[in-house]
Amino acid sequence: MTRLKAKLAKSPNPFGKALFAILTKDHLSESDWEEVEDTLLMADVGAEASEQLVDQLRSDARVSGERDPKAVRAGLRKRLIDLVDPGMDRTLEADKPETGKPSVIIMVGVNGTGKTTTAGKLARLFVADGKTVVMGAADTFRAAAADQLETWGSKVGVPVVRSDKEGADPASVAFEASSRAKEMGADVLIVDTAGRLQNKANLMDELGKIRRVIEKNLPVEEVLLVLDATTGQNGMIQARVFAEAIGVTGIVLTKLDGSAKGGIVISVQRELGVPVKLVGLGEGPDDLSPFNPESFVDGILG
Ligand code: GDP
Repeated sequence: MTRLKAKLAKSPNPFGKALFAILTKDHLSESDWEEVEDTLLMADVGAEASEQLVDQLRSDARVSGERDPKAVRAGLRKRLIDLVDPGMDRTLEADKPETGKPSVIIMVGVNGTGKTTTAGKLARLFVADGKTVVMGAADTFRAAAADQLETWGSKVGVPVVRSDKEGADPASVAFEASSRAKEMGADVLIVDTAGRLQNKANLMDELGKIRRVIEKNLPVEEVLLVLDATTGQNGMIQARVFAEAIGVTGIVLTKLDGSAKGGIVISVQRELGVPVKLVGLGEGPDDLSPFNPESFVDGILG
């Protein structure tokens, strides 16, 4: 069993189990189908996708008349995999052979979602792959954010470019980090940013400027939006703001080790048209995995 599957199977509220319990009843009434749809909505699958899935499952049941639990499970698994995996490329740009060096990754997302932690874990993955990495602490709003990134840097053996002044210009830290990565001939630059949604205009200005100054030095191929799976559909609002502010090339869904049902994977991919590339499965340095649709679905089916 993969770690993702094992962790999700332990989740206290796998919506797959609830769905399965309804779908294997002898007779499915109208209210059973409504319950299926409610279960999907409560798991953050989103209204449109839930309706689509219920229509498909109803039509499968009508056509095959199948009530055998094994066959029902296989049918549900297939439909869920099709929803979760509309055939998107989930490879990080930095891992593609044709990508120039240093490959730049900007981490964005609301504070508290796990940006800094994910930057550290990601750096560790690249280091384990034999890559040289530089991190830039462009979240200058809280001095503690740079300290936290520095702690990750020393844990994983990666230099961190930061400013000692709280409130320093985040774009100038980002520029310095990109210059350093270029001078060092590093393989990957990871830039952490602040995410205060309270002031959307400022946030947009700040992120736009960070991107522009880095691009004076290096092309930016990857902007990873970090979403906390436990915030449910609220994550969709965040996703729209960041997509508009800076553009997003991939999603990292964190805190999937908790009680989150993860259905937001489906809605966020649909709406933004960008794939979930990584999932956070805990607070430790190794708790980051590539997103694998099949093990994700197997995990939620339990
Ligand atoms: P930032 O403000 O977006 O940079 O968020 P942080 O990286 O500081 O993370 C906020 C909190 O979430 C910290 O306590 C992290 O340890 C925790 N965290 C981050 N990712 C995960 C995850 O995948 N699972 C769990 N359980 N906690 C996480």
